[in-house]
Amino acid sequence: MHSWLIPALGIFTEMQSGNRLPHALLVTAAAGLGGTDLAMEMVRRFLCSGDRSEGCSCHSCSMFRAGGHPDLTLISGSQSGTIGIDEIRQGISAMEKTATNDHGKALVIPEADKMTEAAANALLKTLEEPPPESLIILTTGNQRNLLPTILSRTMKIPVPVPGMRDLQAFVQKKTGRDQDFRAEIFLSGHSPLRAAEYAENGTGAKVRQALEQLNGVLAGSCSVPELADYLLSELESRDLICSFFYGILRDALMLEAGSSHEDLVFLGAYPDLASRVAELDPDSVLQGIKRLNDLKMVKSNQFSYVRSLQIASWIELLTGKN
Ligand SMILES: [Zn+2]
Repeated sequence: MHSWLIPALGIFTEMQSGNRLPHALLVTAAAGLGGTDLAMEMVRRFLCSGDRSEGCSCHSCSMFRAGGHPDLTLISGSQSGTIGIDEIRQGISAMEKTATNDHGKALVIPEADKMTEAAANALLKTLEEPPPESLIILTTGNQRNLLPTILSRTMKIPVPVPGMRDLQAFVQKKTGRDQDFRAEIFLSGHSPLRAAEYAENGTGAKVRQALEQLNGVLAGSCSVPELADYLLSELESRDLICSFFYGILRDALMLEAGSSHEDLVFLGAYPDLASRVAELDPDSVLQGIKRLNDLKMVKSNQFSYVRSLQIASWIELLTGKN
């Protein structure tokens, strides 16, 4: 179990050992924090007929680990990216069948905010009158998109975003590399699982290379079109390129406000580049923030040379170089 999930799991186990478990829980966890992993671990403990420990090998836990527990239904969304009424109805009817053991039935609905209104209303009836001995766990990274009636009928278990020290430790352990991963962590939106993915799939290395090139642009040894082409061909996704620029702007503002290089969330491991970013014209930084929205609007199906020009013009605006 990931370290940042342990406090939330603790809330669950305490309620379970005190026989105070409600019928419905809502795990609120930002994307990439492993909210569904947590929900599944809660269900394993709920269905367990042994001592509930992590290594428990009772019949129920063995079936659970083998991926086919008859008393668990895990809802997966449709291809359209939503969770429809049919999926919810199937989940509910599975809940109403007799359990194969004394521990009742469980239903897990990951990303419950993707439920259509009809699906949410179907679930609502079950939340109002849950089958006995049942546990329903919803997860969401976006609770504002859930109906207020669903929110009021579930007990919320929040997963806090881990601090920078924990995030670094996690990515270092996961990759086996004793490196500064602040850039990956920032780009992942402080999601440990995604940051580790960036570190492992080479995205992090490409971002480092782009930062080197930006340093080159500011030092006059690399051209703006070269950097724009590199970003477009290597980072590819518009969101990632925008996050890259946002990281630079954010740290430029932090430096202007008097932060030291070590405290920067994106450029913390790049003192050379940070000193050059600190020299940027504050007006250009503000312009860059305004124009970042234009870049976000670029449709992904537009010709890449148009995007390349737009990216180049943004870098020119920020750096005053060409
Ligand atoms: Zn067990």
